[in-house]
Amino acid sequence: MTKQVTQGHVCIDDLSITFDVRGGSMVALAPTSLELSPGSFTALIGPSGCGKSTLMNAVAGFVPATTGRITIDGAPINGPSDKVGVIFQQYALFPWFTALDNVRFGLKRLKLSKSEELDRARAAIAEVGLEEHAQKYPQELSGGMKQRVAIARTFAFGPQVMLMDEPFGALDAQTRLVMHDLLLRIWEKHKATVLFVTHDVDEALILTDDIQLMSSGPGRIIKHYPLAEPRPRKLNRDNVHLLETRDEIIALLHQSH
Ligand code: ADP
Ligand code: MG
Repeated sequence: MTKQVTQGHVCIDDLSITFDVRGGSMVALAPTSLELSPGSFTALIGPSGCGKSTLMNAVAGFVPATTGRITIDGAPINGPSDKVGVIFQQYALFPWFTALDNVRFGLKRLKLSKSEELDRARAAIAEVGLEEHAQKYPQELSGGMKQRVAIARTFAFGPQVMLMDEPFGALDAQTRLVMHDLLLRIWEKHKATVLFVTHDVDEALILTDDIQLMSSGPGRIIKHYPLAEPRPRKLNRDNVHLLETRDEIIALLHQSH
């Protein structure tokens, strides 16, 4: 379980992002610094519009830095990278591919032999518990199953950094709990560095090593909460620190509305 992780070190230094909008510009992210150690699991939480997706899209290389810089293992991010996997709330699966072929598509960049590619895709599908559904198309799968395919597709190519933007936001509460267990299991095995955007304070408390709380006007990180509790975690009276952290974050989120 305590596998030594040496890759996936993300350094965000004084990153700011300004968008051109009609009649001028708007600061989506004020200068922000954040370091993610290899294999860590960090939450970004904050009110809608505070720049969570913007920060994540910058790490993904989809949005350029206006000032400052981002490096992964010392290499500057100037565009999408093979080191980085991204999962969004909308599953972004190809409707014309089966679950298995969606995962295989994600592996194309590795240029494996056909049989290696198939073996790896099958293993990834099995890892997320979808062996029975490998030949189904996305429209035949539930929301939770589609997100499992997306997780399999992304982890299968072995990214050092995994960016997840409200990945479980569209799922019902029960399915979300199942997905938490699944994600923790896969993360503990692969030990990618995870940056996870969520609206759900409890989800951040259950999953992550550190909660980075953002605020808007302009978007920035205002405080962070390291969490050292062993997993699996429960939000009950045995974990007073988690409950106190929850109260404080909820109070700060209320203030910023
Ligand atoms: P969050 O994910 O925290 O809800 P976003 O990062 O999506 O917030 O957006 C932060 C701010 O930047 C919002 O005011 C949003 O409208 C604005 N914004 C995001 N993307 C763009 C863009 N491409 N062009 C102009 N404004 C944008
Ligand atoms: Mg967003």
